[in-house]
Amino acid sequence: MIVPVRSLCRKVMASALALTMALPVAAPLPVAAQSRGPMIIRDQEIENLMRDYMNPIIGAAGLKKGSVQIILVQDRSFNAFVTDSRRMFINTGALMDAKTPNEVIGVVAHETGHIAGGHLQRLRDQMSTAQILAVAGMLLGAGAAIGTARSPQVGSSGVGAMGIGLGAQDMAMRSLLSYQRGEEQAADRAAINYLNATQQSPRGLLETFTRFNQEAMFKTTGMDPYLVSHPFPNERIANLEVTAKKSPYWDKKDPPALQARHDLMRAKLFGFTARADEVARRYPLSDNSAPARYARAIAAYRNKQLANALSNIDSLTREQPNNPYFWELRGQVLLEFGRAQEAVTALRRAVSLAPNSGLIKGMLGHALISTGNPKDVDAAITELSNATQREPDSSENWRFLATAYSRKGQEGQAHLAAAQAYFNDGDYSAAATQANRAKQLLPPNSPGWLKAEDILNYRPPRSAQRNN
Ligand SMILES: [Zn+2]
Repeated sequence: MIVPVRSLCRKVMASALALTMALPVAAPLPVAAQSRGPMIIRDQEIENLMRDYMNPIIGAAGLKKGSVQIILVQDRSFNAFVTDSRRMFINTGALMDAKTPNEVIGVVAHETGHIAGGHLQRLRDQMSTAQILAVAGMLLGAGAAIGTARSPQVGSSGVGAMGIGLGAQDMAMRSLLSYQRGEEQAADRAAINYLNATQQSPRGLLETFTRFNQEAMFKTTGMDPYLVSHPFPNERIANLEVTAKKSPYWDKKDPPALQARHDLMRAKLFGFTARADEVARRYPLSDNSAPARYARAIAAYRNKQLANALSNIDSLTREQPNNPYFWELRGQVLLEFGRAQEAVTALRRAVSLAPNSGLIKGMLGHALISTGNPKDVDAAITELSNATQREPDSSENWRFLATAYSRKGQEGQAHLAAAQAYFNDGDYSAAATQANRAKQLLPPNSPGWLKAEDILNYRPPRSAQRNN
């Protein structure tokens, strides 16, 4: 399941402003600024893989494991960047371009070099708060919900198509984010050190950057954003090559299991975001590999070919019965084609294999309230309560939880969950209306009542109200 997230965009924008807030919000984007553009997406399989790429590098850089979160931006161009010491953004296009884990890990190592080298402070010093907010808005403009491929019969509550396009201000933003030459070389050196320390090859890094250097020589327009923010003069590539080739790990390959996960991740991204003809070209029927069947299953699902999608997925679950993401996909497909009861079975399997995923639990909760069976409501509340604890920024899960509580007749809790959903979406007046109703229905000073009061007392930051 690839999910676009609007509330997370706001959270990141808020953090770009360095606001310390009890709850993750900034103001909703004004209507005038809305257009189609790149957006943040969530996906458990890809996020877990990114964490596994990143954690050794973070450790080698002397940073705390888990202290930097990778955020996926759905955009076909190559880009990777950091806006603060806690978040690294990677375009899905960069992952789709990378043939090996090593190529992604090299870029991650370079970006980590910028974090560890404190190169972001200069950026901060040079930009006003308003500029940072504008840049964050442009980078994170929530846009087209391509990845979800939700079919209309189930509806997609909470998933909006709203955002800020990368337009004329784009170049200004890129130049603001661009690093100085010395910083690039320092990040390159740091990257090689981290790769050596983790016994990984610097080859992927060198090959990726060489590709950019060549692209820069022949292209003047339509360049990948990465090229603009990270200058690639010949001298830099030459230096990098000398150091990289000295590595004792130059010829070392990625572990086969990691490569296999990488191939599935790319197949998933192509399946969910590329056009059907491109999927057919990259993963032709003659290719019977697991990634090819995965990509074709997803493409078939997007084209509403249920039987085709299911037959591919079933061949995958037979082969790898312990892969939670194949079961997750089966659940997603069945749920969206109105077969909620079967979706529940598949998603229970996925949850048992990936018990820490709030995203998958949320989908199981959605399936449980979609069966229409009153007996499933208690289980839905359990799953969705857990999902909202793990993923408090997901408005969608709060909405499903509100529905589940309402079916159970627990109206106070239902209004409170609805208030949380509106709050995450930045709709404070609707959140306040729901929180008021919740307060009237819940016992005074109970945890829910206090939460409702927190929402009522919240005042959005002025800077976030005015900007954009
Ligand atoms: Zn750089």
